[in-house]
Amino acid sequence: MEATEKDILRGGQFLVKETNCEDVFTPEDFSEEQQMMKEAVMEFNDREIIAHRNRFEAKDFAFTEQCMEKAGELGFLGVAVPEAYGGLGMGFVSTVLTCDYISSGTGSFSTAFGAHTGIGTMPITLYGTEEQKQKYVPKLATGEWFGAYCLTEPGAGSDANSGKTTAELTEDGKSYKINGQKMWISNAGFCKLFIVFARIEDDKNITGFIVENDPSNGITLGEEEHKLGIRASSTRQVFFNDTVVPVENMLSERGNGFKIAMNALNVGRIKLAAACLDSQRRITTTAVQYANERKQFNRPIADFGAIKMKLAKMATDAYAGESATYRASKNIEDRIAIREASGNSHQEAELKGVEEYAIECSILKVAVSEDVQNCADEGIQIFGGMGFSEETPMESAWRDARIARIYEGTNEINRMLSVGMLVKKAMRGHVDLLGPAMKVQEELMGIPSFDTPDYSELFSEEKDMIAKLKKVFLMVAGAAVQKFGPDLEKHQQLLIAAADILIEIYMAESAILRTEKNAKRFGEEAQKVQIAMSKLYLYNAVSLVEAKGKESIISFAEGDEQRMMLMGLKRFTKYQNYPDIVDLRNEIAEKVKAENKYCF
Ligand SMILES: Cc1cc2nc3c(=O)[nH]c(=O)nc-3n(C[C@H](O)[C@H](O)[C@H](O)COP(=O)(O)OP(=O)(O)OC[C@H]3O[C@@H](n4cnc5c(N)ncnc54)[C@H](O)[C@@H]3O)c2cc1C
Repeated sequence: MEATEKDILRGGQFLVKETNCEDVFTPEDFSEEQQMMKEAVMEFNDREIIAHRNRFEAKDFAFTEQCMEKAGELGFLGVAVPEAYGGLGMGFVSTVLTCDYISSGTGSFSTAFGAHTGIGTMPITLYGTEEQKQKYVPKLATGEWFGAYCLTEPGAGSDANSGKTTAELTEDGKSYKINGQKMWISNAGFCKLFIVFARIEDDKNITGFIVENDPSNGITLGEEEHKLGIRASSTRQVFFNDTVVPVENMLSERGNGFKIAMNALNVGRIKLAAACLDSQRRITTTAVQYANERKQFNRPIADFGAIKMKLAKMATDAYAGESATYRASKNIEDRIAIREASGNSHQEAELKGVEEYAIECSILKVAVSEDVQNCADEGIQIFGGMGFSEETPMESAWRDARIARIYEGTNEINRMLSVGMLVKKAMRGHVDLLGPAMKVQEELMGIPSFDTPDYSELFSEEKDMIAKLKKVFLMVAGAAVQKFGPDLEKHQQLLIAAADILIEIYMAESAILRTEKNAKRFGEEAQKVQIAMSKLYLYNAVSLVEAKGKESIISFAEGDEQRMMLMGLKRFTKYQNYPDIVDLRNEIAEKVKAENKYCF
């Protein structure tokens, strides 16, 4: 059934509107075509990437390039590219799915793939003129050329609009001359095309250009960086010295580069989250296989509660990550379709569709990049000393995971962005936070109900709890906005705490809605471990929200206001019936142990 404007939420609205489980897309909803794509990508990953893990660890950059060429031959580089430009023209969910299942072999390939298909190609498909698209996109979609994205500079990292690279119009008005130094450029060593951001005169904002990689045109590269992980991902500095670029290679309009850069990153962020999912599945599988085999004290270590609790958390976080990533991906896909149906070009529709869910993209980037790191860390712990050895895959998985918290906007920046964007949306009237926040205020002043709710139906208490966690966010963020106004952005620790609350709400709600939908169609018995995972995730989320809420309240409220908010926090984080967390963990771990793999 096609989604209509009225039944899909706008970006950020999840916080103030209830979502029916029937309206969320889940991995169990993959179409036959998506299922086939998933299998093809997994097969490629096993055969071409995982089987040669050692070559990536040995910094075999040429091998990364060869694998990218093979991915191009199989059409994987063009999944998101419209057919008119040589791609497969598949929907957003398929794009995300490809990033997910292609990425777990090694962070080196995952980064090369992401940098090329995302930030290296998307700025042209999203902002290019027809001529630019005809000229460059087919080459990029097939892997004849590879792309790279040059935003960061030695002095301009998180503050991306502060770059010093310049673009000067030549006297004949036909070209720009680019001069400057870019840093940390993924795929620099083998790309044929750079998306370069530079400043024209004293413009407030940078401008984007498409620059062909031609060493005779003043382009030189630094040596390969020696990195903690993603060792065979080519990362080099790029120097532009009077590099001549025809005026027709400007992307979009003068001064529009920062917008392009940020929008490319929105797409990049949700894809990066997806690219951290299959790693979690594989790490969990490798960890449980080891734990089932490794014996200490005459028992497989998988029998020990200390190991079970790790396996349960690893599986649960991966499950929540999948749930939230595919939920948001389908929202984006639907929004694109709605915009196209109302007359937008595919290009405009895609741009606006992704921009609409920029908050969710930031949430996912932070949550899933941190989950994969924890997962790899616990993977090492389950392997004990062997986890620390280069001979086992845990060591490189851990090193490779680390970068995901840094690139595509650091997790600090994305945390603050998610809350900042939500507040802006509220101010523009796109998401009504004020009304619900006032209601929470009234509720705080009123007398709490002492009725005992009927929680016999599946997830009724959990959904009530999610609604209460949303009240915590509205209470804390609402009071902070009232107190600090536009100065709120200076209170970073508060913003970060609010972001953590927001993240937990989205992730926990996504897991619950997915499971509820599946329980309705496959039966509760078939979903009993997924039910356990959803409850476990929520329990941990509630604890975190409680801690972050408290930290925030006592940082800015005093006296009666503080007391009232702390009482509200207690009320909004209180279970009627506490779940038995140890039982839940055991149930999840026993399933993973019995299947000897991540099996959800
Ligand atoms: C392996 C690798 C590949 C990369 N690939 C690319 C690429 O292909 N193209 C590209 O353009 N870039 C790329 N980057 C660059 C990457 O996007 C930047 O490293 C990242 O944006 C952070 O910038 P920075 O390193 O200058 O850190 P900084 O911005 O100096 O940040 C350092 C620390 O300060 C924090 N911080 C900074 N500003 C603030 C603030 N306002 N408030 C609070 N905290 C703040 C950050 O969160 C971080 O913890 C890559 C980086 C690496 C390591």
